[in-house]
Amino acid sequence: MTTYIPLKRFATTLTLIGAAFTAQAGNDSVPTNGDEWFAAGEQAVRKAKRERPNLRPAKNVILFVGDGMGISTVTAARILQGQLQGRDGEFNRLSFEQFTTLAHSVTASANQQTSDSAPTATAMVSGIKTNDGAISVDQSINRNEPSAQVTAAKSVRTILEQAEQRGLATGIVTTARVTHATPVVNYAHIGNRDWEADSNVPAGATVKDIARQLIEFPYGDGIDVVLGGGRSYFTPNTAKDPEYPTQVGRRNDGRDLTTEWTKRFPQAAYVWNKGAFDSINPNKTKHLLGLFERSHMRYEADRADDTAGEPSLAEMTEKAIKILSNNRKGFYLMVEGGRIDHAHHAGNAYRALTDAIALSDAVALAKKLTDDKDTLIIVTADHSHVFTIAGYPSRGNPILGKVAVDGVEQKDALGLPYTTLSYANGVGWTGGLQRKEYNPANEATVPANYAGTALRPDLTLVDTAQPNYMQEATVPMAAETHAGEDVGIYADGPHAFLFHGTQEQNVIYHVMAEALGFNNRRAW
Ligand SMILES: [Zn+2]
Repeated sequence: MTTYIPLKRFATTLTLIGAAFTAQAGNDSVPTNGDEWFAAGEQAVRKAKRERPNLRPAKNVILFVGDGMGISTVTAARILQGQLQGRDGEFNRLSFEQFTTLAHSVTASANQQTSDSAPTATAMVSGIKTNDGAISVDQSINRNEPSAQVTAAKSVRTILEQAEQRGLATGIVTTARVTHATPVVNYAHIGNRDWEADSNVPAGATVKDIARQLIEFPYGDGIDVVLGGGRSYFTPNTAKDPEYPTQVGRRNDGRDLTTEWTKRFPQAAYVWNKGAFDSINPNKTKHLLGLFERSHMRYEADRADDTAGEPSLAEMTEKAIKILSNNRKGFYLMVEGGRIDHAHHAGNAYRALTDAIALSDAVALAKKLTDDKDTLIIVTADHSHVFTIAGYPSRGNPILGKVAVDGVEQKDALGLPYTTLSYANGVGWTGGLQRKEYNPANEATVPANYAGTALRPDLTLVDTAQPNYMQEATVPMAAETHAGEDVGIYADGPHAFLFHGTQEQNVIYHVMAEALGFNNRRAW
């Protein structure tokens, strides 16, 4: 596979570039023995040379965020998708990996080397960097700032608010709660990301809870499409949940924000199951609120098990684009694959990767429903995870399996087999098979006698490809953590070329504003 180019010949090649390249090509031929990789490499260069920066204004912007989708997650998801389809996984590419532009996003927040979702998502939609836990407020705010007035003074304008102000349509789609850190940065301003319902806000605070900020959103004609989980944050603590009748809502103020939604807007609808979602006619509905779970929606791997039925991320994206496209001025839409992150925290690569593939499917559909000429599509992550692809497995070795070379399982220094995928820290230190739902409050703690006894589990008889397997973690922790390295920004369409090199995460806002023509500071 290695193509040896002697230094002298390499220097000759350089002098020929820009000269009579085609005429000299025959004389300069390197011995490739008809290698297909060599031909594919040449073709890639020819394709790249045809690329021209697209300087058109963007009518629409779709910002896809894979929560926690670091580079290693993208690579492993690419391989898993290919292997599930019976193809060469290493050669496979996710939909957005075929985009023209790729840059690095530096995810450190104003006060964190490794960040949480609140400041990183704030950076993407508002153009600034702020502190951990902060939702579209600047870094001078205190995390538990109770005052509505102080919070307003420290609030920063978001791209969604600007879009509404200018008459564009806007939407938010996520598999997490619509009141969770990443989607909320579009519409809420609050010091503490956890204040999702009024019952989460300390007594005496005047700042409105996040769910209420969504329903009372003051710009333009309100957000047009909101689809995701988090139903219980919108309904009173006296109201039975329609899907889980033994449970009630989380609101102490007695308000049912779902009925307030349908009353506030003309041609509005609220849905909470797949059947009602499917029956929504995108040409007759102008304001759609869909809340398909009390908390987060299901992982893609578990979606078929849901009692009331849930749409896929791709189906929600399609419905949103069809409704928003009715606005001739254009639209801004954020789509979050919100649970890639949760599966990683739970040490479960299978669900993280299948949710990343679901995000790729949603991007592919968005690409099909829109036009390159007027729609800027960005795919990125808020932060990475401590997720690793390791060992020297042969090409084609099952990505969820144990490291094997030409079918022979490799052993560590203890003589034990090991998996290709693992985590630097987290819950998988037990070598456990029982996946636990990610919930920092009730995760098992590490036994006191564990320290110093950490021999690896013997995986010889363990099927590591089964969906509930938790990959091993080096440092035992109640939950796996985020990682601090850069994440990718994949972009296609008008002004996508402005992403280049290693850029701060808040540049994403500035490119969207430039593409949409919102960069006139005097307008705000
Ligand atoms: Zn996380």
